[in-house]
Amino acid sequence: MLKIDGITRRFGDVTALDGVSLEIGQGEFFALLGPSGCGKTTLLRILAGFETPDGGSVSLDGADLLTLAPNKRPINLMFQSYALFPHMSVAKNVAYGLEREKLPRGEVKKRVGEVLETVGLSTQANRKPQQLSGGQRQRVALARAIVKRPRLLLLDEPLSALDKKVRADMQLELKRLQHEVGITFVVVTHDQEEAMSLADRIAVFDTGRVRQVDRPVELYERPRSRFVADFVGANNLFAGTAGPDGTLRTENFGTLRGTAVEQVPEGAAALLAVRPEKLELTGDGPLTGTVLDVSFYGGVSHISVEVPGQAKPVLVAVQGASAVKPGAEVGLQWGERDAVLLPAVQ
Ligand code: ATP
Repeated sequence: MLKIDGITRRFGDVTALDGVSLEIGQGEFFALLGPSGCGKTTLLRILAGFETPDGGSVSLDGADLLTLAPNKRPINLMFQSYALFPHMSVAKNVAYGLEREKLPRGEVKKRVGEVLETVGLSTQANRKPQQLSGGQRQRVALARAIVKRPRLLLLDEPLSALDKKVRADMQLELKRLQHEVGITFVVVTHDQEEAMSLADRIAVFDTGRVRQVDRPVELYERPRSRFVADFVGANNLFAGTAGPDGTLRTENFGTLRGTAVEQVPEGAAALLAVRPEKLELTGDGPLTGTVLDVSFYGGVSHISVEVPGQAKPVLVAVQGASAVKPGAEVGLQWGERDAVLLPAVQ
């Protein structure tokens, strides 16, 4: 439905987008994920028509998008700050866009009623924004964004203003809503957990380039580069050279087992990425070390282990509380499918 092809945007000597190509399907919930400053917002602004690219093309439903004026695009953009009109009621805020389009009053009323129902704000219709909680304000902004039934809804860090608890609720809500209204959503976020929980597919950005596009589970289990592995949290990295069948030959730990998802020629510099929750503490294992710290987070505990020959402590995540104490000598092991062999270059 949306085809982004070779989009480039420079600001002076900063290349915000460097040949970005993506295809997004009808009804998809798609996330643009990446650290601050990698170009995500610039891409949204180009789609919305607030920014013009230096090169590349975008088509929506097969028609060129970039030559359309922003207000002629069947696209809505929901900003980080919800920009609600403070003096208008919830219903008026939502109705505003439809009234500007001069829709008949009865139709406006009907659609506003329906959309407030969808976001669960029917009983708050006559309140002013300052009489609402952060989560409710966010819902008003969403209602306003979907009431015009755009083909595409762009959301820039939609949940960043909310506290943790409300945020988790709103993630569920957003997903349900997207499913219900069937509009294609493109959300920008720098929070990998948020992207994973919301999106059908995720594009990981790194300084203006797309590094990987995949479904959340694939991204998580099969990162294809060090950058993606780091960003999605596969943060135990061991260095060496590639051996046969996804193995890594190391100087300090012998041969470690893993699975190759990218072609890494045997003998080339390589890394093995092992996720914290895939590591098991055992009496013996290919790695041994000393427990430095155990932190309990409720559902999980994080255990950091100093392994001689490895610069950074190895992080292990276990379910619930752990009986292991700092100072204990432990072995670490993992299954070969739980570790990913990557080229050492970024
Ligand atoms: P954030 O999550 O912090 O919003 P982002 O990934 O959305 O980051 P962008 O806002 O797209 O990143 O910015 C990408 C790069 O382009 C940054 O280096 C930024 O400083 C630069 N940039 C963006 N807009 C402009 C502008 N109007 N003028 C100059 N530089 C800009």
